[in-house]
Amino acid sequence: MGAESRRRMRDPDCTTAPDDGARHKGVPTARLARLAQGVGEAFAELLAVLAPVECVCCGSEDSALCGTCARRLRLLCTRPFRAEGQAPALLTENGAAILPVVAGAHYRDELAQALLSFKHLGQGRLASVLAPALGKAIRTAVGDGAGICLVPVPTTNAAFRRRGFSPVHLLLGRLGRVGALPGLHVADALKKAPGPGRGQKGLGRGERERRVRGSMTVRLLRKRSLQGKACVIVDDVLTTGATLAEAARAVTAAGGVVCGAVVLAATRPPAAAESPAHGPVTPGPR
Ligand SMILES: [Zn+2]
Repeated sequence: MGAESRRRMRDPDCTTAPDDGARHKGVPTARLARLAQGVGEAFAELLAVLAPVECVCCGSEDSALCGTCARRLRLLCTRPFRAEGQAPALLTENGAAILPVVAGAHYRDELAQALLSFKHLGQGRLASVLAPALGKAIRTAVGDGAGICLVPVPTTNAAFRRRGFSPVHLLLGRLGRVGALPGLHVADALKKAPGPGRGQKGLGRGERERRVRGSMTVRLLRKRSLQGKACVIVDDVLTTGATLAEAARAVTAAGGVVCGAVVLAATRPPAAAESPAHGPVTPGPR
């Protein structure tokens, strides 16, 4: 990945919705974004096919993600790992994990750039590479477990209005359509609770966790569907873990039995950035 790509990458640790002006190569971004909003994945895929695009990672004229970068991205996602140990909001004061989390990969390089671009435009080529990576992480987490509810973390209302889609819901929907989630049930049960602006950008850990607490709730009509059910929370990026902890709290409050969480990518805290790679995945939350 070139220096330009790295420069354009944003650290999601600073924001839950890293959409503060990242640009995309090769597509008339503003017009395309307006067009793509609210029309769903199918139309976004059509646009990606029709519009002359460059790879969001290396800029080569190919598709939204060239073959080389797609291969690199897949390589980054070959070994899902347990990631709760690097999320301070998911640890007690004694360092014990309160929620096991399986991450598909570290948030870096081609994966970071592709995920960021996907969140802006939902480009079909990106979804087709990102969805299997999420599916692999989910399968690692649940093993052969069946009857488990996958509960996606809701996007903020503002982000949804801006993008016209929720990245996690779109990826899960894609996995469901291709039969990649056998025995699992996607329960779109969480929603953002009404409240003041919940932006977390630039906030310290304590303030960030206070803002997130109470920010989600289970939809009234979905409460019964969760009661007594084994649930796994699903999100795109793990940062401090405050969002997953809040989602788990809301699902538990509605009677769901939260076994763990799955994320597509986990950021590494600065102190751990140079630590050795994680070992093999231990058995998932179930
Ligand atoms: Zn490329």
